Amino acid sequence: MALLPIAESAEPLSASLPPLLGASKTELTAWIASQQQPTYRGQQLHQWIYQKGARSLQEITVFPQAWRTQVAAVEIGRSTVDLRSPAHDGTVKYLLRLSDGQIVEAVGIPTAKRLTVCVSSQVGCPMGCDFCATGKGGFTRNLARHEIVDQVLTVQEDFQQRVSNVVFMGMGEPLLNLEAVLGAVQSINQDIGIGQRSLTISTVGIPGKIRRLADYHLQATLAVSLHASNQKLRNQLIPSAKAYPLAELLQECRDYVSLTGRRVTFEYILLAGVNDLPQHAQELAQHLKGWQSHINLIPYNPISEVDYQRPDGRRMQAFLEILQDKNIAASIRRSRGLDQNAACGQLRAAQMI
Ligand code: SAH
Ligand code: SF4
Repeated sequence: MALLPIAESAEPLSASLPPLLGASKTELTAWIASQQQPTYRGQQLHQWIYQKGARSLQEITVFPQAWRTQVAAVEIGRSTVDLRSPAHDGTVKYLLRLSDGQIVEAVGIPTAKRLTVCVSSQVGCPMGCDFCATGKGGFTRNLARHEIVDQVLTVQEDFQQRVSNVVFMGMGEPLLNLEAVLGAVQSINQDIGIGQRSLTISTVGIPGKIRRLADYHLQATLAVSLHASNQKLRNQLIPSAKAYPLAELLQECRDYVSLTGRRVTFEYILLAGVNDLPQHAQELAQHLKGWQSHINLIPYNPISEVDYQRPDGRRMQAFLEILQDKNIAASIRRSRGLDQNAACGQLRAAQMI
C-alpha cells in the first residue's frame, strides 16, 4: 500500500495539537519525544489509546503525575455515547456526541463470526439522494480523522469483542471527506489492527475522486452506489447524477479496476415499480457485462419523507435471477437493525434528539 500523506510526516504534533486519536505510533512517539519524555512512552501511549480505551491523559497511570498535569489540555478525542439503541437482531445503533456538541451515528452489526461497524464520515450529507434519510436532513460538517476512528473503538468497547469489518456506509459521502477518511483507514488498519481487506468505502460517486482513490492502491473494497440502470432514472433518484453522467461514473470505475486490479461492488437499492423492473435488470447487466464486479441488491428501507416501497421477495428474486443468468455476480443484502432505524439509509441524528 502507498503511504498515505498523514504517515509521511513524522514531525512532532505541533502546538495547536489535534486530538491524539488517529495518530500513528511514530507520530505519538515524536510527540512524546518533543515533550522530553522517554520514547518508550510513545508505545505506552499508543497502547493506552487503542487497546485500553483511555479517554484522557489523566487516566494513563504509567505516566508521571506531574507531566500528566502539565499536558492536561491535550485531548485524546473520544466521543460520548448519547444514546444506545439495540435492535432485536443484535444490531446496536449509537448516537455519539462530538466535542462541539454535534451528533453522529455509528452502528454495530454482529453476525456469528463477525462484528461489523458502519461508520459515518460526515455530520449529515450534502448529496440529497431522494431515498436516503441522511440526505433529507442536509449537511453540517465533515468529520475529522479521530472522529471516524472513535466510532470503531466505541463499538468495539461496547460489544467487548474485536471489530472484524468496517463499512463507510453511515452518514455522509466519504469521497467528499477524502483526507480524513484515508487517515482513518490507515489508523483503523495499523493502530486498531483491522485488515484493509475488511474495510469497505461506499460512495455515490464524485467526479474525479474514484480515480484519485485508485492512486492510493488501498486493499479496501470500493462500493459504488448505482441505484439506477440508466441516466434518466439516476437523475430522478440522485440530484448530483445530472452533473456526473452514469457513463462517466462507470468509466471511472473501470479505470479503478484496471489501476488497482481490485473488483468494485455496486449497490443497487430496489424501489418497487421505480427501478426493479426486468428491463432495469437487463440494462444493468448490459453495463456490467465482463466486469470484475459484484452487485449488492439492497431492499429499500422505508423512510418517512418519501413513499417509495420495498418490492416483495419474489420480485427481488426475479431481478437477481436476470443478473445471474447473464453471469453477473449479484446477491441480495439482508437488512439489519430495521426496528431501530439503524439500517442503511436511515441514519439521521435529528430523528433521535
Ligand atoms: N454516501 C455513501 C455512503 C453512505 S450511504 C453512498 O451513498 O454510498 C450507504 C448506503 O446506504 C448506500 O448504498 C446508500 O445508497 C444506502 N441507502 C441510503 N438510503 C437507503 C434506504 N432508504 N434504504 C436502503 N439503503 C439505503
Ligand atoms: Fe449521502 Fe449516501 Fe445518503 Fe446519498 S445515499 S444522501 S450520498 S449518505
